[in-house]
Amino acid sequence: MTDHPRHTLHGSLPVSLPRPSRWTGGFADEELEARFRSERSRAMRRTFLVVLALILVMLAALVPLDLTRLEDEGLGAALALRAVFAGLLVTAAVMVWRRPERLMNVAPGTGVGVTILTVALTFVYGLEHANPVLDISQFAFIGLVFVLLLPNTGRWRWALTGILLLAVWVVAYGKTDAGTGAEAELAGLFVSGVLLALLAIAHREDVLRRWQFTAIDRLMRMSTADPLTGVSNRRGFFDAAEAARHRSRLADEPLSVVLLDLDFFKRVNDQYGHAVGDEVLRRVARVLGDALKPGETLARLGGEEFAVLLPGLPLERAERRAHALRAEVEALCIRSGDRVVRMTASVGVACWMPEESIDAALARADLAMYEAKADGRNCVRREVARTA
Ligand code: GH3
Ligand code: MG
Ligand code: MG
Repeated sequence: MTDHPRHTLHGSLPVSLPRPSRWTGGFADEELEARFRSERSRAMRRTFLVVLALILVMLAALVPLDLTRLEDEGLGAALALRAVFAGLLVTAAVMVWRRPERLMNVAPGTGVGVTILTVALTFVYGLEHANPVLDISQFAFIGLVFVLLLPNTGRWRWALTGILLLAVWVVAYGKTDAGTGAEAELAGLFVSGVLLALLAIAHREDVLRRWQFTAIDRLMRMSTADPLTGVSNRRGFFDAAEAARHRSRLADEPLSVVLLDLDFFKRVNDQYGHAVGDEVLRRVARVLGDALKPGETLARLGGEEFAVLLPGLPLERAERRAHALRAEVEALCIRSGDRVVRMTASVGVACWMPEESIDAALARADLAMYEAKADGRNCVRREVARTA
């Protein structure tokens, strides 16, 4: 079992997950990436809207408190500020509801607006009697807005939330007087609790979503990558070929395929052992991969047989590329102890015809490759049907 540890498949897979940037999942599959982004933005929008609704309810609930505590002049200013406040929240909610992609612009703007209005309301009440409940809920909200903007599952999110809530409570306790103390603390506790619970749910959802999408991404990569060499496997090749064929047809461009089979590879296994054979396959995959140009796909179709997709190349140019690829393999020099292993390859080239299936073109490339074998190996032959 020591030859085959359980994680061999993952460990030897050179296709690693790219480090996700802040706003991408870093997934290889475009559809998966788009789905991930859309689900995340929907969840973030939901959290944002719930928070806005909560703050609106808070604003409305505090109006009776204003009526009992403020004089005429202060009352007018407080109610006007409350109205502006409510207007800001409703506008933000409508903007995000209509265009979810605006969330990242609207959320910080709302945070800044709430900060300014909170400070203004504090002055209306007088610094000494500012309403601690209002402070707590608003500052907690501002915190949540910024927390929303942090990378999805970062610990920063929790650290910042903790610091903000702590700061809010320190300020609130400093200002609470005997008359409103217990009431304000209870209400503040309720608001902070609701906000924290909301954040916890959103966070948990983020973690689960990323875990789920990462697992799907990993499975997709594993199912299309060859574990030994890291290049595409047969399935990956057929997926890429189907997509390339579609693009070629749309752009009315040729699409060629090169099939490359190592010569007398069995002898390498027999003479040097399977491990050296594996190393040869990895090295061949690497030199072929390094020789690729953007848009081209290399795959190991099985055993010691490789295929290269060449979009945009007609048969003649594909044949020239095939010569270059064959030369790369011939130039390869693999050391095993004090011995040197050298390889050659027989290569077949074919060009897709419109409406033709992938299998049909591949079969013609295969025939050409066998012709190369029959002609003494280490050479390139183009498909029989088009040699004339
Ligand atoms: P030819 O020039 O006619 O292609 O001869 P060949 O020896 O290359 O072809 P053959 O099909 O007879 O042998 C292919 C060998 O490839 C047989 C098999 O042991 C070896 N092989 C297939 N897959 C692997 C692999 O993953 N690792 C190693 N080390 N060997 C493999
Ligand atoms: Mg062979
Ligand atoms: Mg073979």
